Amino acid sequence: MSAAHQDLIDPFGRQIKDLRISVTDRCNFRCTYCMPEEGMQWLPRSEVMSFEEIEHLSRLFVERYGVRGIRLTGGEPTVRAHLPVLIEKLARLESADGPIDLAMTTNGATMRLIAPTLRDAGLRRVNISLDTLVREKFVRMTRRDELDNVLDGIAAAQKAGFDPVKINAVIERGVNDDEIVDLATFGRERQVEVRFIEFMPLDADGHWLSEQVVGQDEIVETINAVYPIEQMPARGAAPADRFRYLDGAGKIGVIPTVTKPFCGDCDRVRLTAEGEFRTCLFATKEFDLLSALRAGENDDQIAARIEAAVATKWAGHRINQVNFIRPGKSMSQIGG
Ligand code: SF4
Repeated sequence: MSAAHQDLIDPFGRQIKDLRISVTDRCNFRCTYCMPEEGMQWLPRSEVMSFEEIEHLSRLFVERYGVRGIRLTGGEPTVRAHLPVLIEKLARLESADGPIDLAMTTNGATMRLIAPTLRDAGLRRVNISLDTLVREKFVRMTRRDELDNVLDGIAAAQKAGFDPVKINAVIERGVNDDEIVDLATFGRERQVEVRFIEFMPLDADGHWLSEQVVGQDEIVETINAVYPIEQMPARGAAPADRFRYLDGAGKIGVIPTVTKPFCGDCDRVRLTAEGEFRTCLFATKEFDLLSALRAGENDDQIAARIEAAVATKWAGHRINQVNFIRPGKSMSQIGG
C-alpha cells in the first residue's frame, strides 16, 4: 500500500482520480467519426512515450496524487508492440486503495488472439468498441471488414475472465441509430454491458453537426419501448448514466456528453501518446510533460507542471455554447 498522497484538486473542487493514457496515435481501423481514410500523420516513434516514461509518469500520478484508475487508449492500444509488458509494469502500481484499476479501450480486432495474455499481465477491465452488427455497415463505418474478428474478440475477452466486458457504441443519426435496440439485444444475449455514446465533435474531418447527435433521452426511450429499463442511482464521476433492465437481463450505460454534460463530477485527466498533459477531452491547451522528463526534470518539477495545469482546468466542455472551440486534435490523437 503506497504512502499517504496529496490530493490533486482542480479549481472547482473536483479531485483527479482517473488517468487516461494514449499509448499510440496509430490504429488499424479508419472509423469515419474519428479519422480520414488515408489515416493521420503518425507521430515519429521517437516522439512517442516509451514504456519506462509511461510507467514513470503513471507512478507519479498514482503515488503522489492517489490516482486510482488508469485507462489505456490510443489510436488503438493493441497495435503498440509488446503491450503486455507495459500492462505488467502498470499493474504493479499501488494507490492508497491498493492495486490500481487498470482498464483499456480497444476496437477489439485482435482481442481473440491476445485477451488471455492481457488478462495475465494484469489488465482488469476492457471496453470494446462496436457500433454496428451489420457487416456492410461495419465496413462503411470502420473502413475495415473486421466485424467477425471483433465479435470473436468480445467472446475471447469474456472467456479470459474480463468482467464486465463493456461495449462502446457511438450512435450517429442516419448511420446506426436504427440499431439501438439490436445492440441492446446483443448485450442482453451476450451478457455484456452496452454503453451508448453520444456522437462528439472530435472527428478528424471536422464534419460533426449537432443534428447527427442522438441524445440520451431518445436512446433510453427507444430501448425502454422494447425492454423496460429503470435508471440506476447516481453515477458519481463515472461518465455513463446506467440503467437496468426490469426483467433482470443486465444493464446498459449512456454517455450523454453533448445533451447532458457531466463535467461537474469530472475526475479525469489525460496523457497523449507524445506525453502532452490534457485536463479535458476537449481541452484546447496541452502541457508537455515528456519533454520535461527527457530534459531531466525531477519529480517535484514535473509535479509542479501537473499542478499548474490542473489549476487551469475549466468547469467543463462548451460544446453547446457559442464560444465552443473544437480541440486542435482528433479523438485518435487525444485518446478516448
Ligand atoms: S468533457 Fe472534459 S471536463 Fe467534461 S467530463 Fe469530459 S474530460 Fe471532464
